[in-house]
Amino acid sequence: MSSDKTHTIEITKTSTSGLAEIDFNNIPLGQTFTDHMFICEYAEGKWNNPRIEPLAMIPTHPAAMALHYGQAIFEGMKATVGKNNTPLLFRPEENAKRFNFSAARLGMPAVPTDLFVEAVKQLVAVEHQWIPPQDGSALYLRPFMYADEPFIGMRAATSYKFIVICSPAGPFFTKKIRLYAETGYIRAAAGGTGEAKAAGNYAAAILPTEKAKAKGFDQVLWLDANEHKYIQEVGTMNIFFKIDGKFITPETDGSILKGITRDSVITLLRDKGFEVTERPITIDEIMLASSKGKLEEAFGTGTAVAIAMIEAIGYQEEIITLPTTNPVSIDVKSTIDAIKTQVTEDKFGWMVPVD
Ligand code: PMP
Repeated sequence: MSSDKTHTIEITKTSTSGLAEIDFNNIPLGQTFTDHMFICEYAEGKWNNPRIEPLAMIPTHPAAMALHYGQAIFEGMKATVGKNNTPLLFRPEENAKRFNFSAARLGMPAVPTDLFVEAVKQLVAVEHQWIPPQDGSALYLRPFMYADEPFIGMRAATSYKFIVICSPAGPFFTKKIRLYAETGYIRAAAGGTGEAKAAGNYAAAILPTEKAKAKGFDQVLWLDANEHKYIQEVGTMNIFFKIDGKFITPETDGSILKGITRDSVITLLRDKGFEVTERPITIDEIMLASSKGKLEEAFGTGTAVAIAMIEAIGYQEEIITLPTTNPVSIDVKSTIDAIKTQVTEDKFGWMVPVD
């Protein structure tokens, strides 16, 4: 057992680890899970019995409200190893804050920030050996919460589960991606749930993404719900463009997920001497900049790959091709990777060691 200020987390370890079966050089994406999970339940207005135990099925009543009304949210974060083999988390409090923003938007209870961070830290400490050592690899962490109260009727549930599972990931190929600017389907509207990491947002994106893939693209470039012209974000990433030597990214207007990588990349680009502006950006502006040869690069940012270079954007009948030689994004990605493994000084204080 170990404890912090306010939360005691009971730890029960497995006697049958799957670690020996893992080839860290060949990890199937999203299909391998570590030995343990963190779990706790919310009832009668408080979180109870926080514990780490062997990963197992979770019995669920068929009337569990998440299955019917979609009260389900999640986070995505990564643990890496730094100097002296210390496990490190990247800005975990930011994930905790966003988790609680999502919870509030979906009428779900908050998880105290210290419980969230402590749960993740202690789980990573238990699964330390599962953090892949290869460059660019990491242990992906998936905190999530869902309504498990059995009830048929439309109101906020009174009971929930908060769980954290881990999946070793990478090394990710930073594949260059092709985007399809979607003018029919939308991801998020003002006043909706776009700024929350709600499971339903992803469900609604599946069909448009499949259609974009059938047309030869990798991801949907989401446009605003009203005019279908303002760029929002991409798949599970935020987006940046470089025009005339300066970076622009859509401002977070309530319908865009506030990416933690996005925020970190803005800081890093400014630190490297670039101007970065957050403002509304139309797809026409990007198409025009490309036709004039002024669009120098574009990339997506997100926890999964850190940075994905964009090589093409399809909009209506046109497909533009973007320059991908000598991009600043490669340099930014190397800096993030170096900070995450303590090869470079963490001058922004982003890394949190797991003791
Ligand atoms: N937008 C969406 C819709 C996402 O799912 C993600 C991934 N969390 C992002 C942007 C990037 O956010 P972050 O940098 O915090 O991973």
